[in-house]
Amino acid sequence: MRLSQAAPQQLRELEQSLSEQYQAFQTAKLNLDLTRGKPSAEQLSLSNELDGILNGDYRDSSGTDLRNYGGLDGLPEAKQLFADMLGVSAEDILVGGNGSLPMMYFSLQTALSQGLAGKDSAWNLQGPVKFLAPVPGYDRHFTACQHLGIELIPVAMNEHGPDMDQVEALVQADPSIKGIWCVPRFSNPTGIVYSDEVVARMAKLGHIAGEHFRIFWDNAYAVHSLDDNAPALANLFELCKSAGTEDSVLIFGSTSKITFAGAGVGFMAASANNLNALKDALGFSTIGPDKVNQYRHVKFLKDQATLTAHMQKHAAIMKPRFDAVLEQLNAELADGDIASWTAPQGGYFISLDTRPGLAKQVIQLAADAGVKLTPAGATFPYGKDPEDRNIRIAPSFPSIEDLKQATAVFITCLKLATVRQALA
Ligand code: PLP
Repeated sequence: MRLSQAAPQQLRELEQSLSEQYQAFQTAKLNLDLTRGKPSAEQLSLSNELDGILNGDYRDSSGTDLRNYGGLDGLPEAKQLFADMLGVSAEDILVGGNGSLPMMYFSLQTALSQGLAGKDSAWNLQGPVKFLAPVPGYDRHFTACQHLGIELIPVAMNEHGPDMDQVEALVQADPSIKGIWCVPRFSNPTGIVYSDEVVARMAKLGHIAGEHFRIFWDNAYAVHSLDDNAPALANLFELCKSAGTEDSVLIFGSTSKITFAGAGVGFMAASANNLNALKDALGFSTIGPDKVNQYRHVKFLKDQATLTAHMQKHAAIMKPRFDAVLEQLNAELADGDIASWTAPQGGYFISLDTRPGLAKQVIQLAADAGVKLTPAGATFPYGKDPEDRNIRIAPSFPSIEDLKQATAVFITCLKLATVRQALA
């Protein structure tokens, strides 16, 4: 039903029946959670073989004793594995600790205080520092910047990626913009994959934005497709090399949502100039990463064919969860004018837009009926969604039964808030 065509009497009747449905949910005292972009226990169990996989063999192929200090930039075998995953060379890779977020934060800190191209290049020496934040986006990118005093400038996202006209105009006009956050494949939360044209324009951004600018290319969901037809991502690093802008990009990834979240391996790819600057700084903060865990991952994930087969097992668990939410959204809302949402081919999230001014209210209604959703505004810098309409749904963690129940409650709250707004 299209609410814009409903007569006032029809809206009042609808409000009445939705309120009754809502009260029934409240009486059921549910306790459901759609906030967490975490793998389910079933997904984590796919990697249980990691435990004990070394079976007392603590030497890698070059004979290094993995139990001892050293190897600041990671094991050669781990570099090769993750280089193949990102489509770069092993020499472009640094393999780190248990996740990618610490590497992003460390890169920000180093660029701010030490510089990535010699002391004079430190962002802090150049006045205020700003970053572009394609929205909706990943809250931890934004809060890391906020914590370090970097101002965030929102940039619109469309179905091809960030609005590149806007990005190019902004960086050209303001040299204090030193970077941009990107989740280029199965973006958090919209699930879109950046188009070839967007990636090609990103590769040239270094020419427009100047030598201190860095693209933070967080390829967190590089291999996390839900179906075999999911679009591939163009190779930014290759394109940057052709354009002579390879210093303008830092690429990040991890196995957090491949093996164990929080006990996986983080890695990054960058030019020799950037890697050298980061390794110099890293040497003051660690004697070396956890090589034992890196080697366990090498033994377990082995090569790209094994990795792909492993990710297909993840997809087999994730796809029915995405379908459970999407089927209900389609059945209840597809022919209406209440909301629009994404149907991603990978990643961890569905992004839904309500009518303007309703996200907070829908999330509050759902919370009062026992269904937790990511707080309104979390997908925007400073927690402020200017139109108050974006809601991030994370289907990975709950059981399918809980997910169906939670989605039913959510849809009732969404309809109720929308009808009430239309009546007001
Ligand atoms: N980047 C994005 C886009 C994410 O969605 C997440 C987790 O949800 C992370 C990074 C966290 O990565 P890690 O566990 O490797 O630190």
